[in-house]
Amino acid sequence: MTATLVDATNHTRIAGLGERILRGGHLSRAEARWLFHLEDSVDIFDLLSWANRIREHFKGNKIHLCSIVNAKAGACSENCSFCAQSSHYQTGAPKYGFVDPEPVQEAAEEANQKRVTAVGLVAAWKGLNEGPMLDEVCDRVRELKASGKTRPDVSLGIIKSQKVADRLKEAGVECYGHNLESSRRFFPQTCTTHTYDDRLETIGYLKKAGIKICSGGIIGMGETREDRCDLAFSLKEIGANVVPVNILNPIPGTPFEKNDPLPVLEILKTIACFRFILPRQEIMIAGGRTVNLRDAQSMIFMAGASALMVGNYLTTLNQPVEKDLQMLKDLGLDPSWDSHGFSDQEEAGCGCGNESCETEAELVTAK
Ligand code: SF4
Repeated sequence: MTATLVDATNHTRIAGLGERILRGGHLSRAEARWLFHLEDSVDIFDLLSWANRIREHFKGNKIHLCSIVNAKAGACSENCSFCAQSSHYQTGAPKYGFVDPEPVQEAAEEANQKRVTAVGLVAAWKGLNEGPMLDEVCDRVRELKASGKTRPDVSLGIIKSQKVADRLKEAGVECYGHNLESSRRFFPQTCTTHTYDDRLETIGYLKKAGIKICSGGIIGMGETREDRCDLAFSLKEIGANVVPVNILNPIPGTPFEKNDPLPVLEILKTIACFRFILPRQEIMIAGGRTVNLRDAQSMIFMAGASALMVGNYLTTLNQPVEKDLQMLKDLGLDPSWDSHGFSDQEEAGCGCGNESCETEAELVTAK
């Protein structure tokens, strides 16, 4: 029997970077790029094991569970190339107006029974302005908060005034979902009806209102590893508290319908790189998990994920919550969370220590 000798150079370098993160240090972009470009499975598994240690060190064995309610479906004016709900594409996705109180209360009850921390109300529209719709949204948030069963989160698109963010905060919104989607460079290939800066401006208003930020992106849209790396640094710079990583589930009828799926190891490596760059954030695996990872789903925790979107997604199906809970139990992970998860996180900034560094953080705080 012959054995292949493994070059220990990469092993030593990955370990050095992992130890630095555990001591509270940061990666440079060049170091992060190197991690994103690891190719051999032996190196990727090394990376995963360090990402797992970093997750355990900063997040313990707790896994934060979130769910969403499609609070207003379809007929969206925007042209996001991955989205079944855009009015620009024929996808057959359902369309309805803003949700009544009952389905929201049912979702809260179910979340409470299944140890899910948060229910997010997600609306398919460009954004939210002052007016009767904002009043209705605030009513749903207040009812959700008053139920005491779940943390009321929302994802309501672009906000163009501080007043709207302040009203949402007053109603009880703790965390607002607003993805950057990808790097600034790749964003125009995902959407042309609004800009990356519209998204950063929204995040600026929300942060000023004291609302926590849930912001991540989608991988598998045709972006490069460099784009994924830049996205992770942008999320660090804006001080995202929860970082959803979605994996494209190509929807027939959308411009990305024929995209090739990312290899499973590439997905796991990306999650691990995000954990190295964002050691204290909640890294949440969201849409596209079941279809892209299949039997390797439980590996996301070894790759550094500390949160999971459970229940069905906006227009696609997920595996039953019971199956996810069993997966966590089998791995000795605890499906719970407390607000210390937010207070332990660092302020916005890329961590490079260079005072002249121009970051996205400047954009979100400049308003
Ligand atoms: S991602 Fe949101 S903004 Fe973009 S088309 Fe879909 S619902 Fe509209």
